[in-house]
Amino acid sequence: MKDKPTRREVLGHAVRGATLVGLGGLGFYLIRKANGEGVWQIDCEKCVNSRLGAVGVEVCDYCATSCVLGLSAVRAVNDYSICGRCYICPAYFDIKSAVNEEGLPSQKLCPRDAIDRKPIGWVDPDDPANNYYEYAIDENLCNGCGKCVMACKEPAGLNSIRLVVRYDLCLDCNRCTIAIACPDEAYERKPLSEDEGVG
Ligand code: SF4
Ligand code: SF4
Ligand code: SF4
Repeated sequence: MKDKPTRREVLGHAVRGATLVGLGGLGFYLIRKANGEGVWQIDCEKCVNSRLGAVGVEVCDYCATSCVLGLSAVRAVNDYSICGRCYICPAYFDIKSAVNEEGLPSQKLCPRDAIDRKPIGWVDPDDPANNYYEYAIDENLCNGCGKCVMACKEPAGLNSIRLVVRYDLCLDCNRCTIAIACPDEAYERKPLSEDEGVG
């Protein structure tokens, strides 16, 4: 039998996967960055869905419903370097739903079934609660509704999911309709800094 990998090995594997996911809008991002232009971005410290301390409040879905595109340019991404790979992820499961025969919540939280769950690394065949789970968001299905972002916060989550603007999809409207609708002034146009570039 293979040895159970260390947590560092499991996380290293997952971070490489996240890097690949983040390459989608890289070309567009690099062009805009080279030109020194600002782009529409979400300040996660202001957005109610990701802001720490904003717990037990209503999810804001304006990023999903206010974009001029049919499917919003905003999508959720999971930062695997933070994700705890929980057995029962509150962003994947609707933890208020009835428990099924496996002892898991019977319903998923995402209304678009955009989150995939699979065990990674060494798998304990006898006790699934011993395993690490990867929660991958399909950005082609996600519409940025923010439900999973709000759910992955204290006390149950680690705040690893956030909303980002996909720069390869965004039309860069002069007056972004999401920015106009945003109740938290979290949607801003500003130059990208060195450490930004997911999209
Ligand atoms: S933001 Fe909404 S649609 Fe996207 S993965 Fe999260 S719950 Fe699903
Ligand atoms: S700038 Fe336009 S396309 Fe981009 S997120 Fe805002 S409304 Fe959507
Ligand atoms: S509209 Fe503003 S507060 Fe609402 S989800 Fe988007 S960035 Fe967050």
